[in-house]
Amino acid sequence: MQRRKFIKNSALGVTGIVSSSILASSEEKNILPVSVIKSIKPMVVCTWHFQNATSKAWEVLNNGGNALDAVEQGVMVEEADPTNETVGLGGRPDRDGHVTLDACIMNHEGKCGSVVALQNIVHAISVARKVMETTPHVMLAGLGAEQFAYESGFKKTYLLTESTKKQYDEWKKTSLYEPVINIENHDTIGMLAMDENGDIAGACTSSGLAYKMAGRVGDSPIIGSGLFIDNEIGGCVATGLGEEVVKTVGSFLVVELMRQGKTPQEACEEAINRIVNKPNSDYKNFQVGYIALNKQGVTGAYAIHQYFSMTKNQDGTNEQIASDYFNKI
Ligand code: ASP
Repeated sequence: MQRRKFIKNSALGVTGIVSSSILASSEEKNILPVSVIKSIKPMVVCTWHFQNATSKAWEVLNNGGNALDAVEQGVMVEEADPTNETVGLGGRPDRDGHVTLDACIMNHEGKCGSVVALQNIVHAISVARKVMETTPHVMLAGLGAEQFAYESGFKKTYLLTESTKKQYDEWKKTSLYEPVINIENHDTIGMLAMDENGDIAGACTSSGLAYKMAGRVGDSPIIGSGLFIDNEIGGCVATGLGEEVVKTVGSFLVVELMRQGKTPQEACEEAINRIVNKPNSDYKNFQVGYIALNKQGVTGAYAIHQYFSMTKNQDGTNEQIASDYFNKI
């Protein structure tokens, strides 16, 4: 298969003058010394075309905010948008008509929080952050997560909109259970940001598969699958058919491959290869996409099928980058 590089791996993030001997020794370990990290320009990337989200995250970074605040506030834009029908308010429901949200967040210290099958709360990502910051736990699920959200001051909101209710009523006429993710377009947002300290954080939030079985959980709230950050190396977020990402612990895999010396692009490609090269892989019928960012500010993106993209903002301007993909036929 011919590999085309749509994504330009650039070292644009490194702005200062850095001694080449420092770089040489640190590159061997794929870890940047503090002096180099200090000269990195803040930046944010997210899955798909969510330019309003990256603009918001950029605004936070540009005002000196940290990467964690940037990713939280960035993805909140999509959670609050009722026209985005697989995240937060206006997310499509499960097969019983309930909108259940999955989200997780991870900071540069390796701390993380997650909510699973959360109902009636718009900003699942902020509840995940509260789990991380105010509880001794990493994940809260279902009613426990919802109860925790109310206790933390979040307000109850009915998440089904007129549009998603209408679509659901239409779907119910056949109730066909085909948990196949379309390959052209998803709306799960995964975001990675690097702040002026060179620290990396990430967030991932989704209502998951439309009309999923009640209780189905995808990759998006699973640390290591939907999202992983290792502040020495970089971060990765996933979108697409969560079951396939979970089976390969996709985001952790990408970050570990970067630790072993692969570029973000090579690491994303290898993680996709692990999925498509499985015996009897049904990859022609589902999409998975990864985006990754390393400490040098180099990015990568790769998917099984065409039409995956990444949005990047490093100077206040959003850049839409078409991802290369595996299935060229
Ligand atoms: N990854 C999400 C899930 O499987 C869905 C998506 O990205 O569209 O729940």
